[in-house]
Amino acid sequence: SPKADIILSARGLTKRFSGFTAVDSVDLDIKRGTIHALIGPNGAGKTTCFNLLTKFLQPSAGKITLNDRDITRLSAADISRRGLVRSFQISAVFPQLSVLENVRIALQRRRGDSFDFWRPEKVLSAYDEEASARVEEVGLSSHLHEPAGELSYGRKRALEIATTLALEPEMLLLDEPMAGMAQEDVGRISALIRKISANRTILMVEHNLSVVADLSDQITVLARGQVLAEGTYEDVSQDERVVEAYIGA
Ligand code: ADP
Repeated sequence: SPKADIILSARGLTKRFSGFTAVDSVDLDIKRGTIHALIGPNGAGKTTCFNLLTKFLQPSAGKITLNDRDITRLSAADISRRGLVRSFQISAVFPQLSVLENVRIALQRRRGDSFDFWRPEKVLSAYDEEASARVEEVGLSSHLHEPAGELSYGRKRALEIATTLALEPEMLLLDEPMAGMAQEDVGRISALIRKISANRTILMVEHNLSVVADLSDQITVLARGQVLAEGTYEDVSQDERVVEAYIGA
């Protein structure tokens, strides 16, 4: 099928909040194996789009398909089980637990094993091997037994990505992965995103345009809830409407 290379697609995706249209008939096609960035000025509807694609919000109208299957009516949990996973916030990391233990918990949750929220240290060591592999993948092996709360901000972000990878995503949605990062961490996290994109599709919202330029295969620019432009960084950065939307914001 000509659509075989499209992993995620949206048609006419719309979200209205009591009369205000935050996302307005958005069409999106995300190619398998690419890094795709969603950019646009503040209030453009990027976060709302993410919330719709992952069903944290119900669309007012439109259709979403994942691997050609209609997922519009599925729950957020079902969508994550089908391989479309959104990165957790850093606050989801248990600061008192080690890097390894945090990833073990993520694995345990994925498997649906019981999890004692109040005594999270009581996780099964059966997950150690797989957890170590995920930790290795994000370059935190030398911090395996360090409490997550003592990691640098950039390493916490890497740990957050490791806990997300534990869910075995086919496609990963990263919500401002560079937010709050020091320049040296931006380089590290960029390298990590490129590395994990080797066998996964990535859709990210990111404000740091040099990161977007560096990482993205494809870019969709939103403004006032609508798709303003699409293409490579070169394409969209030379588009006058895009420049105007940023200046006018
Ligand atoms: P972005 O992420 O691009 O900055 P958002 O998706 O957060 O944009 O917001 C798009 C628009 O929708 C903004 O004008 C915002 O104020 C509005 N909006 C977002 N969430 C809600 C909500 N729950 N209720 C009402 N308006 C909202």
